[in-house]
Amino acid sequence: MLATIDPTAPVTAALIEALGAAVILLDAQGVTQALSPAMRALIPALEKGQPLTLVLRDPDLIDAIDLVSRQGGRRVIELIERVPVERTFRIHIAGLDSVGWRRPALLTFEDLSELRVTERMRVDFVANASHELRTPLASLLGFVETLQGPARNDAAARDRFLTIMREQGLRMARLVDDLLSLSRIELRAHLAPETPVDLSGISREIVDSLALMARERKVALRLETPSQPVRVAGDRDELLRLMENLVENAIKYGREDGEVVIEVTDGATEASVAVRDDGPGIAPEHLPRLTERFYRVDTAASREAGGTGLGLAIVKHIVLRHRGRLAIESALGHGATFRAVLPRFGSHARRDA
Ligand code: ADP
Repeated sequence: MLATIDPTAPVTAALIEALGAAVILLDAQGVTQALSPAMRALIPALEKGQPLTLVLRDPDLIDAIDLVSRQGGRRVIELIERVPVERTFRIHIAGLDSVGWRRPALLTFEDLSELRVTERMRVDFVANASHELRTPLASLLGFVETLQGPARNDAAARDRFLTIMREQGLRMARLVDDLLSLSRIELRAHLAPETPVDLSGISREIVDSLALMARERKVALRLETPSQPVRVAGDRDELLRLMENLVENAIKYGREDGEVVIEVTDGATEASVAVRDDGPGIAPEHLPRLTERFYRVDTAASREAGGTGLGLAIVKHIVLRHRGRLAIESALGHGATFRAVLPRFGSHARRDA
């Protein structure tokens, strides 16, 4: 048998104040007698001395508190608040022993909102990844069946089909590679890279390795970099990947016969690299979503160009792991600029980030 609790006693309020969880103590009339700091942070409108139901008017919550207050015991409910933003709470309501015929109640709030958003993202991600893999897989299987059946003895068709099958296989391989890179970068997200990496050197390597692709699209690549090395605290392979994705995109989605400028700049605590094209640009409504996995402005154009829809998601995660930031500027008809700003090697800004 529990000792009776007086919800108005200073010692009770002091205990509730000391708790780390989001907790609220109601007296037998449903009036708030004590709140923990986490509870105040969760729902700032709550005030001591006021009925809880003045702020949270949910009928299920009101019923559950009433029941516990009359009969004791415990209840658990989920509450979805839609204003000002959608939030989901799981609320544990426990009746406390007291002298009166109604009991005080102790409510513990768990904020499930982030968990729900993560869950939804995970489900969407699995669905998207499966869909992206299924399309080339279906095409591969279709061609295998054709080669086993109607085209069995058709040498010309066989060569043509094998070329397409190779392309579809490569597309699946690219997708799996990108998925693996993304999960590897995410796994190490909390470990900021520490080795000095020269951004100019990285940019030069990428310009060299993409020269052929640029020539095929008749795109001129121009590199502007200071004469001294520009050293950031980084992971060399990841920074190569970041530059490769940005420059490849600029060549793919920029203008044929256009120009792509890669500009490396150095500062006191930060260095940056900007990749600018003079292509059709991106409409403003797409900008905030570009770094989402599988988000494309024009899905057919992306597939045509061999895109997986994961390039910019990888770029964003690399920048975040480097404790830097990514800025995208564009206007329709005026090209696009993708700028990664990274902490310089040895700068304190990195530690404060
Ligand atoms: P993808 O594999 O499709 O290239 P990304 O994540 O690299 O995937 O890019 C996402 C989308 O952003 C692309 O499909 C394209 O629509 C758009 N995009 C990226 N870079 C540029 C650019 N430089 N100019 C115009 N659109 C771009």
